[in-house]
Amino acid sequence: MNSWAELAIPPFDARYIFPSLQLKSTATDELVSLPQNRDIRMYVCGITPYDATHLGHAATYIAFDLVNRYIRSAGQIMHFIENVTDIDDPLLERARRDNVSWESLATSQIELFRSDMTDLHVIPPEHLVGAVESIPLVIDAIGELQKNGATYSVSEDIYFRVRIDPGFGTRAHLSDEEMVRISKERGGDPDRPGKEDPLDAMLWMQKRENEPGWPSPLGIGRPGWHIECCAIALNYIHSSMTDDYSIDIQGGGSDLQFPHHEIGASQARALNGKDFARVYMHAGMIGYDGEKMSKSKGNLVLVSTLVAQGTDPMAIRCALMSSHYSQDRMWSSAVLQEAENLLERLRRNLSREEVAPTSGVVQLLIAAISHDLDTPSALKALELWCEETESGLTGGKPGELSRAIDSLLGIAF
Ligand code: ZN
Repeated sequence: MNSWAELAIPPFDARYIFPSLQLKSTATDELVSLPQNRDIRMYVCGITPYDATHLGHAATYIAFDLVNRYIRSAGQIMHFIENVTDIDDPLLERARRDNVSWESLATSQIELFRSDMTDLHVIPPEHLVGAVESIPLVIDAIGELQKNGATYSVSEDIYFRVRIDPGFGTRAHLSDEEMVRISKERGGDPDRPGKEDPLDAMLWMQKRENEPGWPSPLGIGRPGWHIECCAIALNYIHSSMTDDYSIDIQGGGSDLQFPHHEIGASQARALNGKDFARVYMHAGMIGYDGEKMSKSKGNLVLVSTLVAQGTDPMAIRCALMSSHYSQDRMWSSAVLQEAENLLERLRRNLSREEVAPTSGVVQLLIAAISHDLDTPSALKALELWCEETESGLTGGKPGELSRAIDSLLGIAF
């Protein structure tokens, strides 16, 4: 499907040094340095289009945008793929509740998502790929898993044997009991009679009454969620025979760590024998005024609502970067106000003719982002530069700093 408008990022002067980007992998709890001598391949799990785009989505896609921006700024090529789960249970449930067709709900929400991402200066993926358009890829992947003995049927629905991957469960660090409990909360069916293991995942669901279905050698039905991402990632991102991993970065919100990313990685390994991702990177959840932001509580804050109320999207972006991406954090009007103040102060100082030296702060921004996207330190460095400029220091180039803020942090003035 169509992505959104491409964004150019300003180049850096050759004298700046870009260390290897280090990202914390939730699979090992260790920092992993990305290679600098080759392209980087990143797959980010996108939205299910029925409540786009709340601030949790925005925070997640901004975090991966920072990865994309750093890699590009360092002169490397980024292959970035994102999906849209445009057929799944939650979408059908919402469409039924609101008495609209699931297709029109998905179409309108995807359009809103594109415009929110444009407002937030998120660089579009190389391919934005829908689940429906990927059904042939999913059918092929399930066919391969069948050949590898990784599947079985329960009443004509097809399941994946998670234990075929000896590494299953090692990435999320959860006990079997915890995995069953979380699976139940997040769309799994651990209690279904006939399953060999409660954690086995649906690959192909036969068409249910009043639900859509697509013809296939597996029967008329629709794909499971985990195999959708696995099939898209393996088909749109090509790894060479010598690569140890299918992709470099598997990303998404921390609520995807289990079961979605765990099972997706096991399916990928059952398909090609490789470890799926070098880094599993997860963005924290965003709460609102002391409560968890959730559909069920009805307290979702949407980017489009804030923008319609006159909020500068750059202030939303800056506010979401004021804490580390991996932390669960609270949204509040105070957090937004602080970001607005910093932006205003930066604008004022960057428009002066004489400013404090800038090359040091540019290198500090690079260093902060290279260390697991340390945006709080990057913003702190900008504050200190504002103080230096306001105290009368001179010798810097405001254009140079402005371009670096745009390239690395995605904040354009
Ligand atoms: Zn996914």
